[in-house]
This record gives sequence, structure tokens and C-alpha cells, in this order.
Amino acid sequence: MKDVLSLVRPNIATLAPYSTARDEYKGDIGIFLDANENPFDNGYNRYPDPRQKALKARIAAIKGIAPERIFIGNGSDEAIDLCFRIFCTPATDNAIAIRPSYGMYRVAADINDVELREVQLNDDFSLPIEAVLEQADTHSKLLFLCSPNNPTGNSFPLAQLEELLNRWGGMVVVDEAYIDFSSQPSLLTILDKHPNLIVLQTLSKAFGMAGLRLGLAFSSEQVMALFARVKYPYNINLSAMELAEKLLARDVHSEVEVIIKERARVTHALSAMPCVTNVYPSDANFLLVKVSDADALYNRLIQDSVIVRNRSRVPGCSGCLRITIGTPTENDRMLSIVANFL
Ligand code: PMP
Repeated sequence: MKDVLSLVRPNIATLAPYSTARDEYKGDIGIFLDANENPFDNGYNRYPDPRQKALKARIAAIKGIAPERIFIGNGSDEAIDLCFRIFCTPATDNAIAIRPSYGMYRVAADINDVELREVQLNDDFSLPIEAVLEQADTHSKLLFLCSPNNPTGNSFPLAQLEELLNRWGGMVVVDEAYIDFSSQPSLLTILDKHPNLIVLQTLSKAFGMAGLRLGLAFSSEQVMALFARVKYPYNINLSAMELAEKLLARDVHSEVEVIIKERARVTHALSAMPCVTNVYPSDANFLLVKVSDADALYNRLIQDSVIVRNRSRVPGCSGCLRITIGTPTENDRMLSIVANFL
């Protein structure tokens, strides 16, 4: 494993970041004539905390990770984009990702003019470790692994992820957007051991805050300091922070439990239906379902206002729909349409 700083784009390593008015003065009380705001208080007339100290303290307590090792982004999509911007020199460096997987790795790579080398998963969606490593050259800076993986739903064993962390020479980004639904442990448990590990999580899934756009990255203090320098100064707005703090006080365990129970029930029910040829095992809050005619079933569901994701054109997912686990009533509605589909 190379020194992490040697992997950083040279212009980012030497970047003088924008210093906000609120970076310079740390106190809360004072007469603020520094940021050209409207001085008349309406609750939102001041710029938000660019370091998100209060929200980070809450997340630090929930995750058991020091606040200095946390980045909060405008969704984890922001963190994905920052990985490219921090580590990859456009038109020179490359990144590696598995396929099929979350589509934003490709979009963020394309936007940043970074070559993305995709390695097809094995037929059972397991990790082809040697094939992944074979793709790497001296310009390979990032490896994206998603576990549980979207859209396949499976998690990769911790031992395999650790093997890649040990054998890969660049940064390994493990996207754990669906970790709260998984039987596998989070890689946050081994964050201390691997300076080249970035773990992505999100408040959009189990925590029920997709509308607030709050994604999380966890890594070493050194890497998180790079994220803080490259992000937009006030990337998280005040009302999202306030609402997130309030919503984090809710216990989502019971909701997650219902979703996991429903996942088992829906798997069982779908498996018995004539048009379903396979329901892949899932560690996430969705199921990848192979059916006899994906386009026709997709359209049939839409006719009844049930919207699923048609993944049948994704390599490795032919004939597949990805179905999110909804409430029991919503799932029943979906199941009754699939059951009657010929
Ligand atoms: N990673 C994965 C694997 C996802 O499936 C998604 C959203 N579908 C995201 C990241 C993005 O999440 P966010 O809402 O935090 O941007």
C-alpha cells in the first residue's frame, strides 16, 4: 500500500482552500459583520456551520467514529464525486468498479473525465478478486465496491473485502448505503487498520431521510481533511442539519426490522409465482427478481401505479426487475399484480 498522500492529485495536494468567514471566527456569540448576510433574524439569515459540528457529533456517537473521521455530503453522491476529484487526474488516472453496481460511479467518472474499468461479477454475483486486481496499473487510484451491492442485493464477505484492501495499491471505496439491512458487519469495524479505506454510508435508506440529501463518508483524519478542503464551503444547508438532528433521535430499528421481515415474506411469495424464475438472496431493502418477461411485467405494474426499476438491460441482470421493499400493504399490492401476471 502506497502512502495515501502520494495518491492525491498534485493540484489538490497543494490546494489553498476557500476560507469562510465562519472558519476564521470559532465562537457562537458576537456581532457578525463578516459574511454580508442580512442581519435581521428569521432563523435562516446566517450561513450554516461549514464543518457541521453538531450533526457530526450526533453521527459520531451513533457510529462510534471520531467526528474528525466523518464527512457529510449532499447525499453520498457528493462523496463519490469528491473521490474522483481528490484522487484522479482527468484523462490520466483510472478507477475500477464492479459490474453490475450503482450507476453513479460511472457517471461521476465520466463527468470527471476519468476512465472507469468495470469488472463483471461472477455469475453468482460473487467478487472476482483476481480479475479486479488484474485491471490495476500505476494510474489506478480508486476501487469502488458496493456491499450490499446495488442492484444484486448481496454482500461480499468481510474477508474478501479485506483481501482487496491488503492487495490493492490505491484507495478502496466501500459503499455501504444498504448496510443497516445486512447480516454482514460494516467495514467501519476495520477502519483503523486500513489507511486506504473510505466507507460510504447514507441517511437516505434505513434512516429514512432521502429527502434531506445527507450522505456520509468515513476514513482517516488525513483523507477526511482532503474532503473538507475540496467540498463546497457550505455544502450542507441549515434546515437539513436541523431536521437530521431531530430525526436521528428516532429509533429506526423497528422500521428496519419490519423491512427485513417483509423482505423474507416477499421473497417467499415471489418465488412461488409462475412468472418468476429467480429471486436473488438480498442483504438490502430491495430484491433483484428474474422474471419471464421483464419489460411486460414492468409495464403491467406501472399500469397499476406500482413503479419498480427495470434492470433487464444491465449486463448480468437480463430479465431482472429490482423491487424495493415497501410497507406490508404496498408489498401486497405489488404481489397481487405479479401473481396475476401471465
Ligand atoms: N450508493 C448506493 C449503492 C445507492 O444505491 C445510492 C442510492 N440509490 C446511493 C449511494 C446514493 O445515496 P444518497 O441518497 O446518499 O446520494
